Amino acid sequence: FDLPKAKNEPVLSYAPGSAEKKELKAALKELRSKAIDLPMHIGGKTVTTGDKVPVSPPHDHQHILGHFHKGTSAHVHQAIDAALAAKADWENMPWQDRAAIFLRAADLLAGPYRAKMNAATMLGQSKNAYQAEIDCVAELCDFFRFNAEYMADIYAQQPESAPGIWNRVEYRALEGFIFAITPFNFTSIAGNLPAAPALMGNTVVWKPAETQIYSAAVIMEIFEAAGLPAGVINLIYVDGPMAGDIIFNHKDFAGLHFTGSTKVFQTLWQTIGKNISKYRSYPRIVGETGGKDFVVAHPSARAQEVGTALIRGAFEYQGQKCSAASRAYIPESMWPELKKMLTKEMASVKMGDPEDFTNFVNAVIDERAFDKISGFIAQAKKDDGVEVLVGGNYDKSKGYFIEPTILVAKDPKYRTMCEEIFGPVLTIHVYPDDQYEQTLELVDETSPYALTGAIFSQDRAATLLANEKLRHAAGNYYINDKPTGAVVGQQPFGGARASGTNDKAGSVLNLYRWVSPRLIKENF
Ligand code: NAP
Repeated sequence: FDLPKAKNEPVLSYAPGSAEKKELKAALKELRSKAIDLPMHIGGKTVTTGDKVPVSPPHDHQHILGHFHKGTSAHVHQAIDAALAAKADWENMPWQDRAAIFLRAADLLAGPYRAKMNAATMLGQSKNAYQAEIDCVAELCDFFRFNAEYMADIYAQQPESAPGIWNRVEYRALEGFIFAITPFNFTSIAGNLPAAPALMGNTVVWKPAETQIYSAAVIMEIFEAAGLPAGVINLIYVDGPMAGDIIFNHKDFAGLHFTGSTKVFQTLWQTIGKNISKYRSYPRIVGETGGKDFVVAHPSARAQEVGTALIRGAFEYQGQKCSAASRAYIPESMWPELKKMLTKEMASVKMGDPEDFTNFVNAVIDERAFDKISGFIAQAKKDDGVEVLVGGNYDKSKGYFIEPTILVAKDPKYRTMCEEIFGPVLTIHVYPDDQYEQTLELVDETSPYALTGAIFSQDRAATLLANEKLRHAAGNYYINDKPTGAVVGQQPFGGARASGTNDKAGSVLNLYRWVSPRLIKENF
């Protein structure tokens, strides 16, 4: 029997007066009204500790939303034991029943939990209503629904048999447990990283980013409400390096599902490499990491389209998307019109609290991010050859607010054209129109990353040249569109080079990494 056909969850508009807006406002008010307790979830039980850490909205750091219970090494061991204990029953459950749990989770998320999930992401990670909706509701539902369909596709892949011989492939879960380490910037990624291996019959220890615990707790609530058995996903709030020390030394460690910075991923891979002889199997290592995503305009491109792509691509969610446009290459002939448009449009962009729905830009995630991003801007103000075209101010007195900032750099290898900033800073380099091909070469060699990128052109030959020159410069490559906003089921997402293992989140490729096929040949 077939699963229900996966469809993308419709994105609600939160228009003034709409029912969904009223519900969301009520959920925001409710969550803000009391500080909640955030225990860990291990083996189907909530676990509290004496070490309670406050959680605050990035846009209002004096307000306390709740306290998470910080775990110790003992909790890491408990989570591993719980995952291993749950493994056999979970792996042996018919796959249709595993699928049903995640399909039910999607329906709960799209229905009764929608407002709470959005409100938790808006408050905990400072996202406006639209950014929260496309992330923690639409994309997370899509991950659950499309992955269930891809799982069925995988199991249907079977070899030929012959007269008197039956060949079949059993897609076993990996032997051991999976460690999911998730980032702060997408609630959907935080949910998908433990869910995808679990769907394929694995059990998981899940460590979210400290700054995303508030919405991670809602995801766990949904998993439990959907009927996920105890121990399949164990959510722990622990120090990353401490947990890594225990998990990467464990013989039953079977795989890492990571999204976060390149530096952390490389450290983890090195540790796994050092311990390789301790494991029963070679662990699967899947990581989506940093980016320095580009927009290139050819002289034939339409300036207004390029401008809209830059504003949305660079500044939605304060530029804290791994796919955010952070360097742009603009031909001299287009620059006067584009400069005028950017200056005019950016003057009307509002920044502030996401609970005021008119604000497009909100706060960056925490003080560490604020200091890092503002440091790049402060240095740019001092450096020769860099102009601050838009923004450039910042203030952390109430929340971690940084104005969307556009820098114009003479040197195409100026540091903000090369290094990941992960904040609302876009750097533009203006190139001579007759240097288009050289500029494409520059784009390719300027950064070690290869996550997303976009080319704008109305000239087919110019587009083809870019396609060829930038073949390895991006895992998700856009022609006449902004480099952000991949939709599950339509644009599987992931990058190469220093941007990750490119196992395309929300695709059949990713799910293949969580199984170890056994070929069975039987003679009659
Ligand atoms: P991060 O600082 O690398 O943290 C990611 C996760 O790793 C967090 O849960 C963090 O926990 C944990 N961690 C840090 N050091 C660790 C260690 N030594 N051992 C074990 N775990 C450790 O990244 P982030 O600031 O959350 O996210 C931003 C980065 O993610 C950017 O570089 C962005 O490009 C990348 N990203 C990539 C994609 C993609 O699809 N390519 C998508 C989203 C984000 P703590 O919070 O407790 O430190």
